Amino acid sequence: MDSLLKHMVDMTGHRDHAMLDISVVAAVQELAAAAQTRVLSISTFGGRQHVRVRASISTGGAARVEDLHDGGTPGEPLEAYPELAACLARHDTSTETCGPDGTRSLWLPIWFGDKATTCIEIVRAAPFPATTIHMVAGIVGVYRNFQNLLDYSERDSLTGLLNRKTFEDQLARMLQCPAEPEPPLAGQPERRCNQGEKTGWLAVVDVDHFKMVNDTFGHLYGDEVLILIANQLQASFRAQDRVFRFGGEEFVVLLRSTTLENARRIIDRFRGNVENYQFPQVGKVTVSVGFVSISPYDSPVVTLGHADQALYYAKTHGRNQVCHYNELVERGLLQTVTSNETAEFF
Ligand code: GH3
Ligand code: MG
Ligand code: MG
Repeated sequence: MDSLLKHMVDMTGHRDHAMLDISVVAAVQELAAAAQTRVLSISTFGGRQHVRVRASISTGGAARVEDLHDGGTPGEPLEAYPELAACLARHDTSTETCGPDGTRSLWLPIWFGDKATTCIEIVRAAPFPATTIHMVAGIVGVYRNFQNLLDYSERDSLTGLLNRKTFEDQLARMLQCPAEPEPPLAGQPERRCNQGEKTGWLAVVDVDHFKMVNDTFGHLYGDEVLILIANQLQASFRAQDRVFRFGGEEFVVLLRSTTLENARRIIDRFRGNVENYQFPQVGKVTVSVGFVSISPYDSPVVTLGHADQALYYAKTHGRNQVCHYNELVERGLLQTVTSNETAEFF
């Protein structure tokens, strides 16, 4: 019982999803005397459900987070886990199988309403005693509630997007990609990505003439526009990208490693989706976007400031367009500003 309490204290002491995953696999591994315990993410990608390992622990090893260096791949198709697929189709809370060598696997999907985006998988050489299943179910219940609480503190209540508080953490996480760029050369502080070079990107999105929407149709319709734009953002970017609501009608997107050409195409597709969308009552709404590559050598404030300068350029040159900071600098249309002053938003 001491051990159970120790794990409960550890699990609830974190303010970070990755650390919570680490402590849940460590707790379940020890208390279920398992050979391997994993946290699986279940996500929809290209219309199909995929399973990706988020954290794991095996006998004799330490618990580890798995998805920091996966380059944003969605994982294996759910069909690779037929028992789990059947369990999810039944909306069941657990399923157990026995392999040809007698190895037992227990899957415990974590349901929020009619959705399960996380599942605990436990592998054990011998059958699971009823007391073990009971105890693990209790831990999974605490994990579920705590995950919910973390989500609540990280998300904006109107749109459900990540809030500004989590931005720096997510940026730092994205910068831990394997293909780290070389340090800048002396006398060359301004790094420029080659056309084909893969890097992460930061985009600042601001709704055009949003004040007019509020003034003409009222705040409730304004709020509805923000929710619909948030939905467009989530539909337009990949599962591994991160979308934030930064303030009123301003959003920030962190794009996982991709080429400049792809980043521009993905961002402009989003801009076009908004332009072509018929907002109920309000009609047409457009957005302007400034974007820049992210680098471990620039502080978040500097990176945000650069994207913001590109956004300002888009705003003052017709709106409803996407502008790339480095391109504007190269063409002499923007001055480089390297001050550490807080980024100024619209
Ligand atoms: P620009 O194209 O230059 O960005 O013009 P704009 O009108 O979008 O920019 P401005 O900064 O003048 O106005 C932003 C407006 O956003 C003002 C504010 O009332 C409104 N706003 C901020 N937060 C919310 C919100 O949560 N809901 C609603 N409905 N309106 C909001
Ligand atoms: Mg605006
Ligand atoms: Mg604004």
